[in-house]
Amino acid sequence: MYDAIVVGARCAGSPTAMLLARQGYRVLLLDKSTFPSDIMSTHYIHQPGVAMLKRWGVLDALRATNCPPITKVTLTFGDVVFNPPPPPDDAPVQEAFCPRRTVLDKILVDAAVEAGAELREGFSVREIVMDGDRVTGVRGAAKGGATVTEEARIVIGADGLHSKVAAAVKPAEYDTKPTFTFAYYSYWSDFPLDGAELHFPEGRYAIVFPTHDGSACVGIGGLTEGFHEFRKDIEGNYLKEADAVPTVGERVRGAKRLERFVGTNDQPNYFRKPYGPGWALVGDAGYHRDLVTGLGITDAFRDAQLLADAIDDGFAERRPLDEAMTAYEQRRNEVAKPLYDATCDIAAAEKLGPEQFAPFAVAMQAMQTMMVEMADAEKEVPA
Ligand SMILES: Cc1cc2nc3c(=O)[nH]c(=O)nc-3n(C[C@H](O)[C@H](O)[C@H](O)COP(=O)(O)OP(=O)(O)OC[C@H]3O[C@@H](n4cnc5c(N)ncnc54)[C@H](O)[C@@H]3O)c2cc1C
Repeated sequence: MYDAIVVGARCAGSPTAMLLARQGYRVLLLDKSTFPSDIMSTHYIHQPGVAMLKRWGVLDALRATNCPPITKVTLTFGDVVFNPPPPPDDAPVQEAFCPRRTVLDKILVDAAVEAGAELREGFSVREIVMDGDRVTGVRGAAKGGATVTEEARIVIGADGLHSKVAAAVKPAEYDTKPTFTFAYYSYWSDFPLDGAELHFPEGRYAIVFPTHDGSACVGIGGLTEGFHEFRKDIEGNYLKEADAVPTVGERVRGAKRLERFVGTNDQPNYFRKPYGPGWALVGDAGYHRDLVTGLGITDAFRDAQLLADAIDDGFAERRPLDEAMTAYEQRRNEVAKPLYDATCDIAAAEKLGPEQFAPFAVAMQAMQTMMVEMADAEKEVPA
């Protein structure tokens, strides 16, 4: 019997497992993937997310991978160019990063294992075991292995957008909005760039992020209505749309593509009630927003910390578990909701200007403040 079983070992699952294991809990961390491995996602981490990595003591491991720190962000709206101001001098970190998921997720998995979590990679959870409405464990198997059942006081679904845990417990979903955008991306060498770029010509967008080994992650997106037409000729349309964004097309055409194009329009927007008897949800499993503002990883880090703190409060009997989990949902929503609204407004817009990013910047600042407060509160707790 474990204290916690965490299904999914990427941005949400590994930090949750790491934080619980650091508190001395017996944690089983399961993923059908093996690590290192990629997943469909570009990978911009905003400063509050990087601050979490620092707080957890894993930022140095990321820096050691020579992932370029990002201190300059440029947004363009046709001829209008806007550089958001850098974080205040006293912010815990000044840089954003855009590490490949092969690199980032491996660092997170290793940190969870180092903290004492038991990792089973290549293990597929096929069934959520329930006793009445209470989740008591999971059933699944490693590739080619026998089916096993494992039990825990809590099963945590960190298993992403198509969460099996969420499908089993059927949580209430709220503030749901439809998919607004699609995007395709790839990696390029010999692509000149200076920091991160987000371009918003009318009806489409382009993102340019510096990542490892001097390569650039370049994504082209648009309103979801254009998805099926776009995918009829992905390369042709990617280049055509890039050409419509001043300087991006030019640079793409002078660069060398390193990988295949990857893309999706599976971008629903929802909040889910993230807890119930014997279960919890974290990361995309519990809350999903359009990819246009690159928030998913930063959100997953924040919610991993909030959830692990809530479970620890409950298990250590500092307060009833249900009360702690209610606070987890409230804290998540308090910070996520303004970012969610701003993201949905940006994603749904035909035409954007810098003014649409003002609410996003304010909400991001609130998230930064919350994360600093959480870290400060932790320092004040006697060991
Ligand atoms: C095209 C695209 C671009 C994006 N760009 C950005 C960006 O720039 N910045 C950003 O912050 N976010 C971005 N996101 C969002 C980001 O990828 C997600 O929010 C983030 O990965 C969520 O992390 P997670 O740990 O909740 O889920 P995931 O990263 O999806 O991990 C879930 C894990 O659960 C495992 N799993 C699932 N089911 C089972 C099962 N039954 N048994 C065992 N294991 C299971 C999977 O193998 C997987 O490893 C983007 C997303 C997309 C699609």
